Amino acid sequence: MRDFSNDHRWLSLNTATVRKQGNLVAIIEACARHGIRAIDPWRDQVARVGLERAVRAVRDAGLEMSGYCRGGMFTADAAHRIEARDDNRRAVDEAKALGASCIVLVVGGLPQYSRPGSAASKDIAAARAQVHDGIAEMLDYARQAELPLAIEPLHPAYAADRACVNTTRQALDICDALDPGRTGAIGVALDVYHIWWDPELNAQIARAGKDRLLAFHVCDWLVPTKDILNDRGMMGDGVIDIKSVRASVEAQGFAGYSEIEIFSNDWWGRSMDEVLRTCIERHRTVV
Ligand code: ZN
Repeated sequence: MRDFSNDHRWLSLNTATVRKQGNLVAIIEACARHGIRAIDPWRDQVARVGLERAVRAVRDAGLEMSGYCRGGMFTADAAHRIEARDDNRRAVDEAKALGASCIVLVVGGLPQYSRPGSAASKDIAAARAQVHDGIAEMLDYARQAELPLAIEPLHPAYAADRACVNTTRQALDICDALDPGRTGAIGVALDVYHIWWDPELNAQIARAGKDRLLAFHVCDWLVPTKDILNDRGMMGDGVIDIKSVRASVEAQGFAGYSEIEIFSNDWWGRSMDEVLRTCIERHRTVV
């Protein structure tokens, strides 16, 4: 396992972590101040400053991109399926322009929440089938752009509104069905927040292997969690044994960034510099 205690060479910042403190250009400037070498920006943050300006800022700062957030939300009623397809193609194009290493997929839950305006449904099995078909269609487009798709399984608490792929096993089943040759075109983004509780975790990480492990996200699970979406913890403040999960992915050969992704009303209320200083300290000590 790599030693992170002396530097933060392998720290990447998911820019949602400081989304309330400044726009993407301000975040990139802050990364330069703190010697952070990689980011994973969100589409709305890119859109707010404009794609061209974002591309220039990333390039001028010499930043790498550990991913692009996000594609997905495949579940929709018939009237919204084209919208979903086209939206995902635009996400691929943007990720390509920015030089992202992969595009993170949050696959969608029930159609009425994933693509608002869609007819309401309670059929989660149908939603999962649609996710399979939607990823298959997007994969054709992403392959041409040579942009890998990283399915992020989300904690079951989000099954209704964000993602009906809830375990690493489910995500890998999709990868195996769509890419049996393990070409590198599709894999998983593993976020400790979503997967730490899974009794199958280590076995599924071994099943994934290096070629399917495309991204690794860290934060912490607070007890009690006050808000299921926006009360993620800073690494070290909760109950996740982050080092043991990192050891598990690195045992398979994963050698990429450890991406910090914290949606937190608490941390959004602090200064950008305080957040980044804390991220760096915790990356060295508990990640
Ligand atoms: Zn994540």
